[in-house]
Amino acid sequence: MTLITSPPAVSAPLAMPAKHVTVSVVVPVYNESEGIHECHRRLSEVLDNLGVSTEVVYINDGSRDNSLDLLRELAVHDPRVVVLGLSRNFGKEIAVSAGIDYAHGDAVIVLDADLQDPPELIALMLAEWRKGYDCVLMKRDSRDGESWVKKLTSKVFYKLLRRIGDVEIPTDVGDFRLMSRRAVEALRRCQERTRYMKGLFAWVGFPTTTITYHRDARHAGTSKWNYWRLWNLALEGITSFTTAPLKLASYVGLLVALSAFAYSLWVFVKAFMYGDPVPGYPSLMMVVLFLGGTQLMALGILGEYLARVFVEVKQRPLYLLSEAWGQRTDLRKPEGQHSRSAPTL
Ligand code: UDP
Ligand code: MG
Repeated sequence: MTLITSPPAVSAPLAMPAKHVTVSVVVPVYNESEGIHECHRRLSEVLDNLGVSTEVVYINDGSRDNSLDLLRELAVHDPRVVVLGLSRNFGKEIAVSAGIDYAHGDAVIVLDADLQDPPELIALMLAEWRKGYDCVLMKRDSRDGESWVKKLTSKVFYKLLRRIGDVEIPTDVGDFRLMSRRAVEALRRCQERTRYMKGLFAWVGFPTTTITYHRDARHAGTSKWNYWRLWNLALEGITSFTTAPLKLASYVGLLVALSAFAYSLWVFVKAFMYGDPVPGYPSLMMVVLFLGGTQLMALGILGEYLARVFVEVKQRPLYLLSEAWGQRTDLRKPEGQHSRSAPTL
């Protein structure tokens, strides 16, 4: 077993891949010790029968259980396994980005470690790729093991994003997908720190096809997504791919100003013609609170965008590697990305 040395932070010559790899499977892992062996067993069975050279890039996203030890063990026994350890939990979106940076196959497949995405479909995905498609999306026909609240909120979110977003993000399609080398290279040119992967995948474009599949329930463990994380992911999706909420603030402002103008005309005419005293406290309170609320909401929307600008301008690396394991004697250099992914060992 060799400890793979990470690419240096500044440009320096790196060995080119010693062996040509046709298919890379990228698997983000966060606290998956219960299911990781079964995942690798099923995945290996599929890869063994493909008849092409393959590699599996596991990214340990700062797991708190012994997932990393189990992954290291896999790397000892299976020469096609590469294990990257992130320095802490960065979240699935970044873990997947890190894996994609280090995968050097002609086709790259992203797969969850919990076996919700059946590895057995990989052969089908490759067949579509060989037809010339750059992206093979996997669309779920149902969402087993998910509550109706999750199903409903996700449906509403995608509908909203489709309506107001700048790119068409397909519904019921997750990160499980195949990408050709040119699609991967295009994706890696998207340098933003706040990453909404589904949106980025869609932004890249290229000839795309879709396969419908049945998404199973988790093999073991529980989902890492609580509603707060999902809400934040939804905000990420909206703010990364549309500026519609910013415009909304101006339109709401205009509408409120126009209605205020019409209402004050009415108050003026009424007072002038009938000598009516202007009705007092309740209506005044209502208007003040309504305007206050609207202004705070508009400020909040501005804040969401500003916060993301703040994160971007800091130019921090997207992730840090603390370790890399495998029998691969080379590492593909994440070209042009030293500043964002400079790994440290
Ligand atoms: N995951 C990760 N980092 C995280 C959360 C999740 O790498 O912070 C991985 C997790 O180990 C799994 C995949 O992302 O392989 C999908 O996670 P999960 O099953 O919790 O999401 P869901 O399927 O419920 O959307
Ligand atoms: Mg899952």
